[in-house]
Amino acid sequence: MKVMKFGGTSVGKPERMKHVVSLVSHQAEPVIVVLSALSGTTNALVEIGEHIAAGDRQAAEQVICELEKHYRSFINDLLQPEELNLRAHRIVDEHFDFLKIILRISYSEALGKDILAQGELLSTKLFCLCLEEKGIAHQLLPALEFMSIDQHEEPRLGSIRVKLMQLLQSYPDIRLFVTQGYICRNAKGEVDNLKRGGSDYTASLIAAAIQASVCEIWTDIDGMHNNDPRIVKNTFPVERLSFDEAAELAYFGAKILHPASVWPAQQYNIPVKLLNTMQPDAKGTTISSAENTVGVKAVAAKDNITAIRIKSSRMLLAYGFLRKIFEVFEKYRTPVDMITTSEVAVSLTIDNTKHLDSIVKELEPFGVIETEFNHSIVAVVGNQIAQTEDIIKKLFSSIVNIPVRMVSYGGSPHNISLLVPSAYKEILLKQLNKGMFGLD
Ligand code: ADP
Ligand code: ASP
Ligand code: MG
Repeated sequence: MKVMKFGGTSVGKPERMKHVVSLVSHQAEPVIVVLSALSGTTNALVEIGEHIAAGDRQAAEQVICELEKHYRSFINDLLQPEELNLRAHRIVDEHFDFLKIILRISYSEALGKDILAQGELLSTKLFCLCLEEKGIAHQLLPALEFMSIDQHEEPRLGSIRVKLMQLLQSYPDIRLFVTQGYICRNAKGEVDNLKRGGSDYTASLIAAAIQASVCEIWTDIDGMHNNDPRIVKNTFPVERLSFDEAAELAYFGAKILHPASVWPAQQYNIPVKLLNTMQPDAKGTTISSAENTVGVKAVAAKDNITAIRIKSSRMLLAYGFLRKIFEVFEKYRTPVDMITTSEVAVSLTIDNTKHLDSIVKELEPFGVIETEFNHSIVAVVGNQIAQTEDIIKKLFSSIVNIPVRMVSYGGSPHNISLLVPSAYKEILLKQLNKGMFGLD
């Protein structure tokens, strides 16, 4: 059995959704199809939630109406047969009635998550109507019946496996299953989600749970490129990546993969393929344990990084200083990405600033604290790059007039990271494309 995940742009237009129907219906082995919401939907739902939370119900209503209009015209192009078209409109009625009822009740975080779930619930139901139109036997598996996270927002893989297996066993004759990406239940049993871009994570967790032969992530580009294609013009798809390389790239900003989506596949040794829905025959990228080529594969950048510097002469010859600092970050469950130290200062970076004020307050007894916002980490990624001949020389001779704030080398054998003010990210990515890959 394999997993095929399709992102928002792959199902965002009626003809694309029909194309996905034809892609999934000609497979040699049974398939679980994981779908995102139609492109733009989750953004609109976020907006609706924000308006309601801010008490601006009129603005929320306006976004709901525009979104509903979009769905009405989408289904009219998607499903012509009268009976199916009517059923599609009833599905849209049901979900938009829910959104309109929400306008009348008081907002809570749990309600916000219920709003966000509507996108994937809608896309999967409409997709199943398309399968029905083509007479393709299938079964919708409600993700809210098997996908769950614990009190730390970590997936409960054991429980996901047991529940999903039970569901699958109740349909022994079905070879095509459809489920929602992104959405899940939390430890309180409420509707929750795996964070933005989380459908990739759903796909990888399902692949791990069922020991799939492969986890295919179908999107709008032909694989993981060597550089960010949204910023740099001349980029190319990387044919093979190891799990570690893919994890570093996803974590450091390669949007094609949700940062957490690599570990479940890696842990259960399931190859992941990144494929292009619009160009199904393109090779794409295969991520597997078989890849061990040494050298630079790609660069990626992660924005909204905050640098914190703790200056203290008490650090001089002291031990236990770093432990005390890290305990503060641990207390506030805030991951640290980069760290550099000297005898009198420690610099580190975080991307989650939710508890920044409390963190800074608790760090103050240790020394003078400086924070700098709007930075980006640019990561150069490749297996064992630290062992690659002249890598440092090549890297630094690629860079001209960039105020590099921090450098991380040797922490991971697969990554060298640079911290720069975000205003320099674009030029740095372009310089690296030239210096590291010889591309203008
Ligand atoms: P989906 O909706 O299918 O999940 P995403 O928008 O989340 O698609 O991810 C695909 C996008 O990721 C591409 O369109 C591309 O702009 C962006 N992207 C960023 N970095 C990379 C990279 N290194 N390689 C490929 N795509 C990348
Ligand atoms: N629909 C969700 C989002 O836009 C999940 C996803 O597409 O992966 O973030
Ligand atoms: Mg995505």
